[in-house]
Amino acid sequence: MKLLIVDDEVEICDFLKSFFEERNYEVKTASSGQAALTAAEQFKPNVVLLDIKMPGMDGIQVLGTLKKKFPRMKVIMVTALETRDKIEECLRLGADNYITKPLSLEYLENDVREKIEALTSSGAS
Ligand SMILES: [Mg+2]
Repeated sequence: MKLLIVDDEVEICDFLKSFFEERNYEVKTASSGQAALTAAEQFKPNVVLLDIKMPGMDGIQVLGTLKKKFPRMKVIMVTALETRDKIEECLRLGADNYITKPLSLEYLENDVREKIEALTSSGAS
């Protein structure tokens, strides 16, 4: 299963990449919104972990584009501060869930697995 991790903080990308690779996911990372869109085109991830707050194109803009182009791609938003308005906007744009930093890895892994199971049980990719 393919996972794309998007965060402008490279340490977070690296940390999550090793965490999920150890659990047999195929992982790519992107440290900007633009890089995320390119990676999504090329890598075709099943699930995207998407940081909201990034300089330039932010996670909300990326989410909008991803959901238009790849409606079946599962997107989990990652946010440092839980701003209700922003979260509502993400859910309206089709985000599949959101998690807040500091990240609970156990929760995150369960959520990624759940999204993948949903994809698998809903048939063809
Ligand atoms: Mg950030």
